[in-house]
Amino acid sequence: MSKQRFDAIAKSYTREKLSIEESGRRSEYFGTYVFNEERMLQFLTKEAYERVKGAMVSGTKIDRKVADQVAEGMKAWAISMGATHYTHWFQPLTGSTAEKHDAFFDLRSDGRGMEKFGGGQLVQQESDASSFPNGGIRDTFEARGYTAWDPTSPAFLYGTTLCIPTVFVAYTGEALDNKAPLLRALGAIDEAATAVAKYFDKNVAKVNATLGWEQEYFLIDKSLADSRPDISLTGRTLVGQSAAKGQQLDDHYFGVIPSRVLEFMKDLEIECTKLGIPVKTRHNEVAPNQFELAPIFEETNLAVDHNLLLMDIMAKKADKHNFTILFHEKPFAGVNGSGKHNNWSLATDTGVNLLSPGSTPMKNLQFLTFFVNTIKAVDTYEELLRSSISSASNDHRLGASEAPPAIMSIFIGQQLDAVLNELEGVTKGKLSPEEKTELKLNVVGKIPEILLDNTDRNRTSPFAFTGNKFEMRGVGSTANCAKPMTYLNTIVAKQLLDFKKEVDHLIDKKGFKKDEAIFNVLREYIKTSKRIRFEGDGYSEAWEKEAKTRKLSNNKNTPQALQVLTSKDSLELFESMKVLSETEVNVRHEVELEDYIMHIQIEGRVFNELVYSYIIPAAVEYQNKLIQNIVGLKEIYGADYKKMANSQLDIVNRISEHIGVIKTKTDAMVEERKKANNMVDVTEKAFAYCDKVRPYFDEIRYHCDKLERLVDDEIWPLTKYRELLFIK
Ligand code: ADP
Ligand code: MG
Repeated sequence: MSKQRFDAIAKSYTREKLSIEESGRRSEYFGTYVFNEERMLQFLTKEAYERVKGAMVSGTKIDRKVADQVAEGMKAWAISMGATHYTHWFQPLTGSTAEKHDAFFDLRSDGRGMEKFGGGQLVQQESDASSFPNGGIRDTFEARGYTAWDPTSPAFLYGTTLCIPTVFVAYTGEALDNKAPLLRALGAIDEAATAVAKYFDKNVAKVNATLGWEQEYFLIDKSLADSRPDISLTGRTLVGQSAAKGQQLDDHYFGVIPSRVLEFMKDLEIECTKLGIPVKTRHNEVAPNQFELAPIFEETNLAVDHNLLLMDIMAKKADKHNFTILFHEKPFAGVNGSGKHNNWSLATDTGVNLLSPGSTPMKNLQFLTFFVNTIKAVDTYEELLRSSISSASNDHRLGASEAPPAIMSIFIGQQLDAVLNELEGVTKGKLSPEEKTELKLNVVGKIPEILLDNTDRNRTSPFAFTGNKFEMRGVGSTANCAKPMTYLNTIVAKQLLDFKKEVDHLIDKKGFKKDEAIFNVLREYIKTSKRIRFEGDGYSEAWEKEAKTRKLSNNKNTPQALQVLTSKDSLELFESMKVLSETEVNVRHEVELEDYIMHIQIEGRVFNELVYSYIIPAAVEYQNKLIQNIVGLKEIYGADYKKMANSQLDIVNRISEHIGVIKTKTDAMVEERKKANNMVDVTEKAFAYCDKVRPYFDEIRYHCDKLERLVDDEIWPLTKYRELLFIK
């Protein structure tokens, strides 16, 4: 009998539920662990407070003297809350976040102890860049890395550590993290969108990109998850026969949340609330044991930090409640995977959502301007945007039947589709007064404030307009939103700059009125970006064919998807928008390919272990049991035994056949891995892993899953899907 599996099952059945008490009203303790506005007013001098606010709102620099004051205030607050350490909290290129804790404690020259934390420690810290992925920058440039304070995201207390959000850069200036380019992209969109928003309201001084992510995840009992080497090492099941009951009945979605899970969620939400993460909704997802958490949207940099912090808290709380949390995009074959929809919009400092239709024609022209420019940007850079969501784990999901396809397209709904079609017919050049009135009254003026068909109806679209925001749905559940948000904001910023140039040209050089100029430019954009709009079924083969004729990219795996990064257009875009230099792009390209290779490599190794140490031994054990039976029958019945042992013999044969294929394929896969490992060029190596190694996984799995069905349940060593997915 397979001891580990059955021990795990027994343990999971006897779990006690941890009961969590609410700690009072959430609105009252929201942000208690954050060095927020309220704490700043309390712990900072007026000057320091104003300088930090200035840095947050308009990016002004904070000098050393002020930094000292801020550090003093932060330290006083943190220590009053029981903190003993501080850390620069940053986002290396792979993995989620990193930190290096230092104690506040220090020694005075007279040997007595003291608590020390000054501006120097707050603003900048040296960090050994060599241990983080840096795509060879360090070797090439002998660069050391340092982390630098990002005053736009507030410091917070996590356990007994004061965490200071930072960027991570090489001494030569190159970004070694995900936050630095995001901040640059957010600066670019602010500048470009503010300039365009001024056409409609001179008072706009700043535009923030907003982000509301929706985090999906699976919760599996800890002992069950631990009993599977593949889950422990790769975050997903590499083998496993689908449970007889999957999600077919659809009874999990919005069903009652199991009580153990509910206590986990409560615990999680309380902690999030204290840390200032505005969590809002929680519900079951489509697959069994799959759930979702969504916050109220925030300014993008803060939202990204909050998502990363959330994932960390989730893992800790899951552990406390005896769960393992799976963020992997496709932990179980045949069951829905997990994503992280990124809801995105633009908000002015005057409180206007630029992607929200308004109540007057002018407001709607503003809406249309940002709406059409976003469409145009996504059309121009569709392949680049697609590359921003690629990863080894997300490859399993993009294009799978429940997830958005690997082809970028935009769903805008019938009402807006009709509006754009009308605008496409607007006369070229100057407009007659009648035409203007007609446009304002009957086209622009007719856009309702609430768009009825822009709900979540077309779930197959990777980029959908949902009433007052765009929803980017291909982002993976393990992903750091910083990357897709960096790309999206960069391309829209670039597009808005081009738009402004064109409109100004018509006004200044051709004597157009402002609204005429805007209509004229938008009309051309609507015409030239038509191919990206698609209202139909994104999963269908017909769309795949159609997309090809529209010359939309369809990159189905990571190495392929990443190639566009280093194209002339991409390099020019990032360079001209000052988001990423050519070196930085190359570094990222390399790091991402390496990350991809590593993931497939690990999966390959785990496959070996599963096959040789678990599956083949179990199959042989059961086969021996059958053979014993056959031998026994022969002993009793002599020549007649065959009649009775027919089925057993058949199973013995089938087991041998499956074992044969599994062994041959696994050995062949290992050979391909060896070949790939000898490759020096990282692109070549990534393609080898993708095209030569990875295809074996499905073939091996197919036969392993057949064996799972044949072999005695008592002997099967790997915890089964029905146990992983239905024990709550
Ligand atoms: P639902 O889809 O459940 O009806 P919403 O559409 O209001 O809810 O929101 C879904 C997600 O989109 C939430 O995370 C929410 O915070 C986010 N969201 C709503 N408005 C915006 C916005 N203007 N910018 C960015 N995200 C937004
Ligand atoms: Mg949604």
